[in-house]
Order: sequence, then structure tokens, then C-alpha cells
Amino acid sequence: MCRHLGYVGPPTSVGELLTRGTHSLRTQAWAPKEMRGGGTINADGFGVAWWRNGACGAPQASRYRNPDPIWTDPAVEEVLPQLVSGAVLGSIRSATVGMPVERAACAPFVDGRWAFSHNGAIPEWRRVLTAVTSDLDVAATRAGATRLFETARLLEAEAATDSAALWVLLRDLLRSTDSGDYAKTPATALRLLVDAVLRHMPTARLNLLIGDGEQVWATTVHHALSAFVTDDVAILSSEPYDDDPRWQPIPDRKLVSARPGVLSIEELTPPDTERSTP
Ligand code: GLN
Repeated sequence: MCRHLGYVGPPTSVGELLTRGTHSLRTQAWAPKEMRGGGTINADGFGVAWWRNGACGAPQASRYRNPDPIWTDPAVEEVLPQLVSGAVLGSIRSATVGMPVERAACAPFVDGRWAFSHNGAIPEWRRVLTAVTSDLDVAATRAGATRLFETARLLEAEAATDSAALWVLLRDLLRSTDSGDYAKTPATALRLLVDAVLRHMPTARLNLLIGDGEQVWATTVHHALSAFVTDDVAILSSEPYDDDPRWQPIPDRKLVSARPGVLSIEELTPPDTERSTP
């Protein structure tokens, strides 16, 4: 179990958001409430991404990560509160058994305007993600796209973890423009990836969260997620950080997108979807 949180709204203090509420993300590191059998505490590091305008005016994700427990890092109260952003994506980690505890394994993983976090685990992830890469390659080749999904790409993962390898595939989907412009439809990329992983490993736990500085998208496969959306703000969080009644629990197997004023919740894999071919 990890816990994550994506925020889009009025400019807010990055550090304050990590400690906001009676059940803040930092508190969830040592006292999470909705564990669903995925671990006990989230003490294997944390990370946070925020956005600034890049050279062409497009939002660009920056990040800070630390492999130590979030409650031990003074930067959370002494440095990160000085950063202000209209979008934030934070994550605290509980390393899956057998995976390294190191900075490079801490979400968020970032690429240009994208930031990503994975709450869950993919059993036999090396075999499964190699097979998923081949599936994506077959689908891209059929669509006449240049070959992006060669299995060697998985070596680009920052760390030897399921989440880091999964990010390489999602990142490449978001980068590819000729096999479907997934950067414009990131929800479709999430659906494609989750479906492919579940086809090879039905017990995979896949609560994914991505943000581009203007919107956040998430999936629920096994783990908890709640949404808080008003006209001004959109937050997706593994657990509500306070007891405001406007938090809305998201059921399992959903694909969620949120921005201020808009919350969309779709079935992740519609029952009539053809699942046997990539
Ligand atoms: N499997 C991922 C990792 O080890 C995510 C862990 C989690 O959700 N607990 O980093």
C-alpha cells in the first residue's frame, strides 16, 4: 500500500498540502485507515511533484523525493511550504516485498508535464510487464506506428520496481502520437494499460494516478480512493485528509478524471470490452 494525492485548484503551498487536515498525507504514512491488506505503514519514502510554466508556457512537472519516512524530513515544513503551485501530486511509499527502498523507487515519476504514482503491486512484474510491452508493440505495429514498445525500453525504468517499469510504458503511450494521441486522451492510455496488465495478471493491484498540471486521472483496482471536487478545486486522494462530508468514495474498478467543477467516473473495463486481443 502506498497512499497518493492529486490536487488541481487555486495556487496552494506544496508543503502545506502534505500536512493539511486531521488525516493528512503525512499522517497516513504512520496511521493509514484503509489498508485493504496491502501493508501496515508507508515508511519507505515519499515524493511530491508540482508544476511551473516551462519554456513554451506549457506546465512542466518538478519533483522532490526522499527514501526516508516523510515524518523525518524537515523539508516538509521548512522548505516545501515555500513552493506554491496550482497543481500538486504527492505520494508516500510502502515498498512491496522484494523491491528496493531507494530514492529512485519513490513516486512521483515525471516526464515533461506528466507526473505519475502507483498504489498497488503487480505479482511477477518482470514477466507480466515484458508480456504487456509485447502486446503494446503488436497493437502499435498494427496501427502503423513507429516501434516504441520494444522490451528493452523497460531498462529505462528508474528503479527495479513494478511502478517504475509501469511508468515507462505509460510514459511511452503518452509520448506516442502516431498510434493514438494518448497525450490528449490520457484516460484511454490508462484504460489500455490497466486492461493489458490485468489480462496477464488478474490479481494485479492498480490504483494509478497521473496529473498534467491542469487535470488529474486515476484508476481504482483493489485500493481505496476518494474524490473532493467543487467549482474551485479537484482532489483525488487514497484517503480523505479531513472529515469534510463532500469527500466521495470511489468504488473499485473505476476510471476517474477530475478538474475543478468536473468529476467523471467511468467503468474501468466495460463488461462488453473484447479482452482477448491487445
Ligand atoms: N509496488 C510499488 C512499490 O513497491 C507500490 C507499493 C505500494 O502501493 N505499496 O513501490
